Amino acid sequence: MKTMPSRISLAHLPTPIQKLERFSARLGINIYIKRDDLTGMECSGNKIRKLEFAVREALDQGADTLITCGGLQSNHCRATAAVAARLGLRSCLVLRSADPSPKADGNLLIDRMLGADIRFIDADAYRNHRSAIMESLAREYEAKGHRAYIIPEGASNGIGTFGYLTCMEEIAEQERQMGLTFDTIVDAVGSGGTFAGLFLANRLLHLEKRVVGINICDDAAFFRTRILEILEEAQEHLETKVVIAPEEIEILDGYVGEGYALSRPEELEFIRDFARLEGIVLDPVYTGKCLYGLQQEAEKGSFSGCKNLLFLHTGGLFGLFPIRDQIPFPQL
Ligand SMILES: *Cc1c(COP(=O)(O)O)cnc(C)c1O
Repeated sequence: MKTMPSRISLAHLPTPIQKLERFSARLGINIYIKRDDLTGMECSGNKIRKLEFAVREALDQGADTLITCGGLQSNHCRATAAVAARLGLRSCLVLRSADPSPKADGNLLIDRMLGADIRFIDADAYRNHRSAIMESLAREYEAKGHRAYIIPEGASNGIGTFGYLTCMEEIAEQERQMGLTFDTIVDAVGSGGTFAGLFLANRLLHLEKRVVGINICDDAAFFRTRILEILEEAQEHLETKVVIAPEEIEILDGYVGEGYALSRPEELEFIRDFARLEGIVLDPVYTGKCLYGLQQEAEKGSFSGCKNLLFLHTGGLFGLFPIRDQIPFPQL
């Protein structure tokens, strides 16, 4: 991997791996958790690993402004705003919101604290025009003498993927230190870049793990196509090429529930109970749905034969605050 892109160091690495003792006993499988929710505070979660590569490219191009987009409670946008402030850059966030002046809560509160220039657009404009809108914001900044760098949704493009390629190298090193092997790795799939990086590393490093994604929006067919595109783009940076068939991309579908960022009571009960069981708080949009799905798949036998499973906690805690009123707390 001679031509692997370079990065700046922003995340607290390596993130710890812990065994989930009681959850393992409940499911009858050894389940470990990699705490990528601990990559930082303002910049916590999985996006910072991707931003280490994307922002390096931005700086190399002389950018002083980062433009990106996401949902109203986007962890990726909040991490981008945090990185920008930390490096003395500007950030401009295009957020999807039906309400043109939403309450500053959760990630949005942090975006505000960090001084991001925030533009709200509705779901339709987001779906159909977000790239054009970011391009026009870049021109707006350039007209004022700045140089803008556009990061696509979730930093799930070729360059961002290297964040999870290096995460898999980190996991392999931790396996050597711990004296065990994770035969299965499970992560939540939202825009596909995290899965793509893990998948690519697994192939390039011949680790022969089973990499399983649980999608929290869209469907398995959508992500197989999307992840192949990201993998193509990532490999433009490399000398080696691996041939990947769509059916090699294992996405377990069926846990989107009510839709992106919409929670069902059983999902929130699961997150509440898991916090009490293991002392670890999951988020409602990604990790809560993913681990809830993992539990159901384990009960169906989808992980029978698995010796040591590693679940990637990709962060997202701030997203719990705006839905505080939906979380069921039984009356004492
Ligand atoms: C973005 C995100 C994911 C999904 O990662 P992708 O690379 O977009 O698939 C998972 N968990 C959290 C907390 C996230 O913010």
